[in-house]
Amino acid sequence: MLYKIEYSLNWGPVYSLQMRILMTLTETAIGTSSASSSSSALPLRVDMLAKRFGQTVALDGVSLEVRAGECIGLLGPNGAGKSTLIRSIVGRVVPDSGTVEVFGLPAGSMGARMALGWIPQEIALYPRITVRENLSAFGRYFALPRTKLKESVAWCLNWAALEDRSGEIAKNLSGGMKRRLNMAAGLIQRPRIVLMDEPTVGVDPQSRNRIFEMIESLRAEGTAIVYTTHYMEEAERLCDRIAIIDHGQVIARGTKESLVRDVFGQRSQVLARFSGAAAGIAAWTEAHGGRLVDSTAEFTIEQSSQIGPLLDSAANTGLVLEDVSIRRPNLESVFLHLTGRELRD
Ligand code: ADP
Repeated sequence: MLYKIEYSLNWGPVYSLQMRILMTLTETAIGTSSASSSSSALPLRVDMLAKRFGQTVALDGVSLEVRAGECIGLLGPNGAGKSTLIRSIVGRVVPDSGTVEVFGLPAGSMGARMALGWIPQEIALYPRITVRENLSAFGRYFALPRTKLKESVAWCLNWAALEDRSGEIAKNLSGGMKRRLNMAAGLIQRPRIVLMDEPTVGVDPQSRNRIFEMIESLRAEGTAIVYTTHYMEEAERLCDRIAIIDHGQVIARGTKESLVRDVFGQRSQVLARFSGAAAGIAAWTEAHGGRLVDSTAEFTIEQSSQIGPLLDSAANTGLVLEDVSIRRPNLESVFLHLTGRELRD
């Protein structure tokens, strides 16, 4: 049944497919006798999770709660520990300490695995069988009863807008459709919480919009979502709350409004572009407590009356102002302020 993956020359997809199957096969082996989840328990509760790889501290006491129907965005610079966290939640990494509970059940138990869906970033599908056969194959690993499997495949096809492609061989689908099928395959057991690892990477704008609609419809059904992304605008659009991770710790969490308020209060940002010698602009910006981001000098001010003296000082130093604007800080500003890095560094 296992075909060679032909989508890519690297082995990521093969690994992901094997992991997906391993996750589901382990479940089948465990059987259905484990405890059933508590409906009042949180979809996800991560408590003081820690993980080291040799000398590297990947997770340093991460705690996180995801409430029913909530979409929580996981943002962090490269190497912050996001993947290790997601991998610990789905059972691909064994943490050194801490606990993960899914609807009150320990991660790895049958109940937790049935309730938890995982959409890997890499395409992990069987390329030589049809769309419908792919979904059925993944459903069978969960030992779904026949009628339930049929219903679930129909739901997935509808959700991913792939009904008219159900008989298509997977490898012949467009890139965007493969991505949608990849997402649908992660939902075949109809989980109540789904982890998504950068589902829009490498996707064209039209397919990206389609994926947003799929995620929004999932949210409307009350499914909880953990959404990892490198795109700030996606987090702003899709997520109710954001957790910012750096150096293996959650360094801030909240709605985007509360994060901006907590970090910046009522302060505003002034963005100014100057022409002239880059070294002079950088030195003046730093001397006035600002920072240069993509050749734009950024300052945080308490009151708008500070703008005049700031620009006068630039002119006195010989800098020629090209453009100036004032704005309320956004999520990107919060991220930059807290981590010292841009999300897409
Ligand atoms: P992110 O997903 O935020 O980019 P990761 O969770 O992949 O971060 O990595 C966190 C840290 O742990 C990094 O320093 C990374 O190099 C290290 N790390 C992750 N996985 C392994 C591994 N299997 N072996 C050794 N180091 C690892």
